[in-house]
Amino acid sequence: MAQPAVGGEIERLIQLLARLPGLGPRSARRAALALIKKKEALMQPLARALADAAAAVTVCSVCGNVDTQSPCTICADPRRDGSILVVVEDVGDLWALERAAATRGRYHVLGGVLSPLDGIGPDDLNIASLVGRVRESGAAEVVLAMNATVEGQTTAHYITDQLAGSGARVTRLAHGVPVGGELDYLDDGTLAAAMKSRTPF
Ligand SMILES: [Zn+2]
Repeated sequence: MAQPAVGGEIERLIQLLARLPGLGPRSARRAALALIKKKEALMQPLARALADAAAAVTVCSVCGNVDTQSPCTICADPRRDGSILVVVEDVGDLWALERAAATRGRYHVLGGVLSPLDGIGPDDLNIASLVGRVRESGAAEVVLAMNATVEGQTTAHYITDQLAGSGARVTRLAHGVPVGGELDYLDDGTLAAAMKSRTPF
């Protein structure tokens, strides 16, 4: 077996970088080299930022978001509309909706989706806390912003059942033609869903 061409610290850095989403071993080596070449300007500030973030990060006790405070910045913001609760699978989905400024409502992060094959049941997700929160807050609308996958939709149905009798209107994101999309390029499932979810003009 070939000996590693670099010392243990650098090899370890490459191995850890390679575990990041979107980075394989090859791009991890390139990233490590870029860090090494810019030790003062990039590597040291990044090391400090990682240590600071690791020390500060916490999970919001209300909604399951990650932030440096609990309740998180969104839950603590009085300008957010507490009558709308947007349910997402993961924090990345919350960030995407925030980037798009898609809602002024508040969020609830499930921490995944129901997946019997992977042994993930209702108790593994933040569903009980969602139901309790809806009942306590008297939220008027719960938006199920799950991914358009089988697991996402199964989870949405399960939550809808759990929220029966809560008084909240349960809605879900529309499935359909993407903005800028051309019908001819859409897959059959998307096109059929778009026709089914058509709205008055
Ligand atoms: Zn929160």
